Amino acid sequence: MPDYIPELALATPQWFGISVATVDGRYFEVGDYSRSFTIQSISKAFVYGLALEDHGRDYVQCKVSVEPTGEAFNSIMLDQSTNRPYNPMVNTGAIATTDIIKGANPTERLKRILEMIRRYTGHNHDVNMPVFLSERTTGNRNRAIAYLMLNFGMVTEHIEETLDLYFQQCAVMVTAHDLATMAATLANGGVNPVTGERALDERYVQDVISVMFTCGMYNHSGSWACKGGLPAKSGVGGGITALVPEKLGIGVFSPPLDARGNSVRGVGVCRDLANDFGLHVFDIAKPDHDLEAFMATQGADSSDSPDLMWDKT
Ligand code: GLU
Repeated sequence: MPDYIPELALATPQWFGISVATVDGRYFEVGDYSRSFTIQSISKAFVYGLALEDHGRDYVQCKVSVEPTGEAFNSIMLDQSTNRPYNPMVNTGAIATTDIIKGANPTERLKRILEMIRRYTGHNHDVNMPVFLSERTTGNRNRAIAYLMLNFGMVTEHIEETLDLYFQQCAVMVTAHDLATMAATLANGGVNPVTGERALDERYVQDVISVMFTCGMYNHSGSWACKGGLPAKSGVGGGITALVPEKLGIGVFSPPLDARGNSVRGVGVCRDLANDFGLHVFDIAKPDHDLEAFMATQGADSSDSPDLMWDKT
């Protein structure tokens, strides 16, 4: 568990909860799925969606790129040619994203983030004050990152306000059940499958899921894409969320982390679910693939195809 946020080190290692939410509103859950913990980095994916809604893709891309880094989540690095953070899933990019969240004052900006999370889960959320204050006290690395970006004019001058907002968004309390619902909402094109409320403009759902797939698991993202094959995002609070587009969302909570900051059991559960149920997004042997129907909609006769790369039987 992370010792740079002392409050998180108080978590009980045995806590373990799993929740799977389908896009038609069913849940499959076990263990501590209703135990609350802080969302931490998982918030980055959802706040990125809010930034896209606030400003549109072109503006956001001026502030943060979408390239994986292969580096730790808290590394102090920017793209040297543009001074942009590499992606919204590492701390540089997440702080730059939080910086552009609209609102007349700090309270309103936080309210908008909490309201956005409410749309995804269907209920209100609190900020865990001890965790927020703990990170605010010890988060000098994030402060260094923010001031480096300020030096390059990549973030606004109200940087201490933005850092507070970033620490608060990381300290929002959620459960594995909530994470499954949030992921199922993305899997469902941005509409919460239980409440029917739209949480994210459908134009940006693809952007959020794409960066989760390429950058969501810190410097384990490449191996994860190969072995798990699901868009996912983890947080140092012990949560992981993952999704299968158009099918389901997964939320796992288990505090012990590996060296990269990913929940050890969370990675294992997502990988096992992906493997056991053929959920890898590139698992072309999926039984429900209907390639004939697809070809028909393309106006081409698949039987004429000279050399299909897969076994049609
Ligand atoms: N609040 C944490 C930080 O910024 C989040 C890190 C994480 O969950 O990866 O360091």
